[in-house]
Amino acid sequence: MNTPAYIGRFAPTPSGYLHFGSLVAALASYLDARAVGGRWLLRMEDLDPPREVPGAQAAILKSLENYGLHWDGELVRQSERHDAYAALVDELLQRRLAYACTCSRKQLEGYQGIYPGFCREAGHAQDNAAIRLRVPESRYGFVDRVQGQYSQHLGREVGDFVIRRRDGLYAYQLAVVLDDGWQGVTDVVRGADLLDSTPRQLYLQELLGLTQPRYLHVPLIIQPDGHKLGKSYRSPPLPADQATPMLLRALRALGQPLPDGGEQARAEELLRWASQHWDASRIPRTRTLAEAQLR
Ligand code: GLU
Ligand code: ZN
Repeated sequence: MNTPAYIGRFAPTPSGYLHFGSLVAALASYLDARAVGGRWLLRMEDLDPPREVPGAQAAILKSLENYGLHWDGELVRQSERHDAYAALVDELLQRRLAYACTCSRKQLEGYQGIYPGFCREAGHAQDNAAIRLRVPESRYGFVDRVQGQYSQHLGREVGDFVIRRRDGLYAYQLAVVLDDGWQGVTDVVRGADLLDSTPRQLYLQELLGLTQPRYLHVPLIIQPDGHKLGKSYRSPPLPADQATPMLLRALRALGQPLPDGGEQARAEELLRWASQHWDASRIPRTRTLAEAQLR
């Protein structure tokens, strides 16, 4: 009775439609939750209107429904959470954990994306400046359920990172941590492209006094030629009439068993069977998986 409930989530960004790689991540997250009778939430990470593709939000919801991936409760949109992010940025500034940065892209060239700390003690005004979070000179790590031990030295490998952009948009790192905490997420299952965001998120959780969720990073599906599957506007949406074959292909990518005659099953039936046979230990322990290997 008192065991903490499992709360998982899928958190797509509407900068494109769902493609096969996002299906693999959504499916893993869904099955990991359903296998233990957990809840599965949906959060639209629509933080960046300029990069949003018109119609992508509706198409994502439609794809999930067509594929039988029904979520619990109300859809949450990050675009409706700006007050919470603003309050958090203020709090971090007050606590002197964050500061305003006015460096231009040009000034930051040649530092390999690791902020050299120019504005740390400058005391710039907030307007027309990015807000950066100070990182400690220490290592943050965790044990991923698939990828194993992973850590980064925040000072040396990441540097002070942006939590609010100069144009006023809130950063993914900030919003994801606040919202996972706010929604009570116990288990984050997502693509391995976010493995190297996790130490930053652990640090933010620590600052906010949040409980660390468990993490499972599934392999990122790449093209046979090694290129990333387009997350861009060019990638076609998941074909609506191909739910069963695409789900079977995604299950295969996740190393899961397939039911006899699965090709004839409806998406919902297939998902029920797959949740009963879900075994996360069979997921390939690799950060990327070329699609050609799956055939
Ligand atoms: N919105 C992020 C993405 O689509 C995923 C966030 C997460 O799962 O933590 O890449
Ligand atoms: Zn700066």
